[in-house]
Amino acid sequence: PEAFLSVRDLRVRFSTEDGIVKAVDGLSFDVERGKTLGIVGESGSGKSVTNLTVLGLHNPKSTTVEGEIILDGKELVTAKEKELEQLRGNKVAMIFQDPLTALSPYYTVGRQIAEPYMKHTGASKKEARQRTIEMLAKVGIPHPQTRVDDYPHQFSGGMRQRAMIAMALVCDPDLLIADEPTTALDVTVQAQILDLLKDLQQEFGSAIIFITHDLGVISDMADDLLVMYSGRAVERGSVREVLRNPKHPYTWGLLSSMPRLGGDTGQALTPIPGSPPSLLNPPTGCPFHPRCAFTGEVTGNRCSTERPPLGEGRASACHLTADQKQTIFIDKIQPR
Ligand code: SF4
Ligand code: MG
Repeated sequence: PEAFLSVRDLRVRFSTEDGIVKAVDGLSFDVERGKTLGIVGESGSGKSVTNLTVLGLHNPKSTTVEGEIILDGKELVTAKEKELEQLRGNKVAMIFQDPLTALSPYYTVGRQIAEPYMKHTGASKKEARQRTIEMLAKVGIPHPQTRVDDYPHQFSGGMRQRAMIAMALVCDPDLLIADEPTTALDVTVQAQILDLLKDLQQEFGSAIIFITHDLGVISDMADDLLVMYSGRAVERGSVREVLRNPKHPYTWGLLSSMPRLGGDTGQALTPIPGSPPSLLNPPTGCPFHPRCAFTGEVTGNRCSTERPPLGEGRASACHLTADQKQTIFIDKIQPR
């Protein structure tokens, strides 16, 4: 099937006082209709920037974007701001970690959901209010007929998150970008919001890009998974394949710092030593080499000199051979 969103060799650079930041450096991925792509990585891996770029929300003055972003057959890198504005909210919508970045304190929740609906569909005020009440009911806000006239500060954190989801879905977008949508919520509310997103996806058939640093959340939510590091994808596959048989040393590190897997082994958790590289001056060769425990298994100094490519389909960008990946994973990483 043709991908609804297809990103090819995306490169995003910002100029800052200190120099050029390579926030995204040659990234390719596809998202199909009705499917969820999880993007996982530490902060600074480029996962949020990628999605702001898809929405055209980067600052055009200080940012250079190269490559292709094709949404439903339309090329977005070269699209005009007007066309992008039409897409946002209509075809593509976003939910953020903090609902207050999307909801203004000065207007009622209802008005903020109804307005984009009127703008994109030409609905009347009355129709839009009816639709807003329906959406609030759908996302589980009690007494939506009266709550529609409340201001965001009258809602709890979980309810604001639900309202933002209602706002994102009101125009029935084909693609929903969820950037750490539940990170700020407690575990119970988090689980409710994730269930809600899954139900709404069933109903609306939207494609979802789900961005998180939490592999535990992704295993429930996503069909496919992209692991990002230093502005690049280092591993790609179905969620099942990647979580059961991960092939990149960085993914091994992420997995072994997950309580569920690490806990089973009875060993101390082993977080990845070191910190993510600077995007101002990224390491040569494999960007993970300063933190990788397996460079010695690779012949010569390829890890520090030669950038490992990410192949098509199920793939990992690492110089280890397929056999080495398998053996190291089974012998040293996999919990028993
Ligand atoms: Fe580690 Fe080398 Fe593979 Fe990079 S290419 S992940 S440094 S083994
Ligand atoms: Mg982020």
